[in-house]
Amino acid sequence: MRIGVHTSIAGALVNAIHRAERLNCQTVQIFSRNPRGWIARPLSPADVKAFCRARDRAGIWPLIIHGVYLINLAAPDPLIREKSIVAFREEIKRALRLKADFLVIHPGSAKNGSPEEGIARCIRSVKKAVRRLKLRNLTILIENTAGQGGQIGCTFEQVAAILDGLDGLPIGCCLDTAHTFAAGYDIATPRGCHRTLSLIAATIGLETLHVIHANDTRVPLGGAVDRHWHIGRGHIDLAAFGYLLNHPIIGCLPFILETPKTSDQDDRRNLATLRRLAHA
Ligand SMILES: [Zn+2]
Ligand SMILES: [Zn+2]
Repeated sequence: MRIGVHTSIAGALVNAIHRAERLNCQTVQIFSRNPRGWIARPLSPADVKAFCRARDRAGIWPLIIHGVYLINLAAPDPLIREKSIVAFREEIKRALRLKADFLVIHPGSAKNGSPEEGIARCIRSVKKAVRRLKLRNLTILIENTAGQGGQIGCTFEQVAAILDGLDGLPIGCCLDTAHTFAAGYDIATPRGCHRTLSLIAATIGLETLHVIHANDTRVPLGGAVDRHWHIGRGHIDLAAFGYLLNHPIIGCLPFILETPKTSDQDDRRNLATLRRLAHA
């Protein structure tokens, strides 16, 4: 069982590892840079060394980097799209330097355009961003979305179309439970999870899933809004999380919390809930 949290890099990258260690996480997700603004401060060799050394010592695996939210690989506006491609290419390079296992990216928003056009643009953008880069052990994960604001990737068919278009690249999926529910897949109960996993198996395939973002939500089923909430306090039953954590395939994947936090206590409580369910 590998359970972790999205931790802050405030102060220094290496602090994210120290935070994860304090929370007894086996895995961790970070932004590799300030999530606001297009320009990322370059990684210094000292930052990279301190981070990788601390991570090795802590035995944290896998390391997941989340691409910053302003990247929109499906943007209809060519200027935004071009900036997004440059920023995403930079994310990949940073992920490689930090020896990340996975780089999670939202497929983007088609804004007022059709999802099909958005999907085609997203595929072209990813191909352009990775051009002539050796991805080595890094896998890019497309995350399913809640579908707000013209986001593509809110149905498993759309995620499957993106994966198909990127066939040949090291690519997979990250499944966010809050997004899944907000997108209209009723995973509130074990039975609903079972049905939804059948839909995933029939579209993207369970084997493409590499990371679970374990988040509850207060957004109603199909509400199409991306808002995360504490485990067991929203619409998704604890039993549903228990089902996923104990599923023979899903339960082997890293589970990352992206739940709200005012202090470490929030993370501790949500982590304790997942661990309890995993061992129930
Ligand atoms: Zn995400
Ligand atoms: Zn979200």
